[in-house]
Amino acid sequence: YRLMVTPVLGKEREVSRVITFLDDITHLKEVDDLKSDFVSTVSHEFRTPLTSMNMGLSLLLEETPGNINEDQEELLDAAHEDCKRLMDLVDDLLDLSKIESGKIQFELDKVNLVDLVKASIRPLEKQATEQNINLLESIPEELPLVKADPNKITWVLSNLVGNALRYTEGEGDIEVSAAKKGNRVYVSVADTGIGIPEEYRNKIFDKFVRVKGEDAIDVSGTGLGLAIVKEIVEAHGGKIWVDSELNEGSTFTFTLLLAD
Ligand code: ADP
Repeated sequence: YRLMVTPVLGKEREVSRVITFLDDITHLKEVDDLKSDFVSTVSHEFRTPLTSMNMGLSLLLEETPGNINEDQEELLDAAHEDCKRLMDLVDDLLDLSKIESGKIQFELDKVNLVDLVKASIRPLEKQATEQNINLLESIPEELPLVKADPNKITWVLSNLVGNALRYTEGEGDIEVSAAKKGNRVYVSVADTGIGIPEEYRNKIFDKFVRVKGEDAIDVSGTGLGLAIVKEIVEAHGGKIWVDSELNEGSTFTFTLLLAD
């Protein structure tokens, strides 16, 4: 059931009456479950043939130089790239539907964020150097342990830092920092990239939303990464948001609970 409460204001703008609705949303939940099942089944069915197509295309591209002309190689290359993009999409859809349906078990542990951050950024250091981007980490050593599933939070951090790299044109700085406030730890990933237009700042956490128009850059993606990030953070009892200035950069911040 969904409970809706609407205040009715009187002459002095005082609340004179309150109207409440109790709405049966069982059917909405059923439709939502059906949709999730459908997406997960279709994605699953796509995974195996896509993997074999990808292998076939990689093999052809490796074996054929000299045997086919430039146009043919270009076509093969484009098919290979499309195939990889579809595989990424299918993987993201599968991850998201598993999290949404509660099929993914979160294994909460007492975790040292310094180690997690180091492990998440190490694989991206090469790409950062190639892009002339300083990838910095400033987590105080004395930061208390947090309650987290280390694999999931590593995924969140890699995704946020990966985005910071993808949405920075030219050189720049990316910094991962963390601080304790009350019973939470605030983790931030700040970049000096292209920034996010104001009207998109809340929407980019929704599925398939990507910044379009003159402010967008030509980076391929599924528009699902931040939706998964948000699901994971919320499953940890945390929140995520972004502060951004167009053409100046963006800072994504999420919270985690302290381990007791
Ligand atoms: P994807 O990157 O695959 O499109 P995401 O869900 O990770 O999907 O991000 C959604 C959109 O948010 C991106 O398409 C991009 O427009 C914007 N975005 C995400 N991270 C950043 C960032 N660090 N700087 C600028 N824009 C960003």
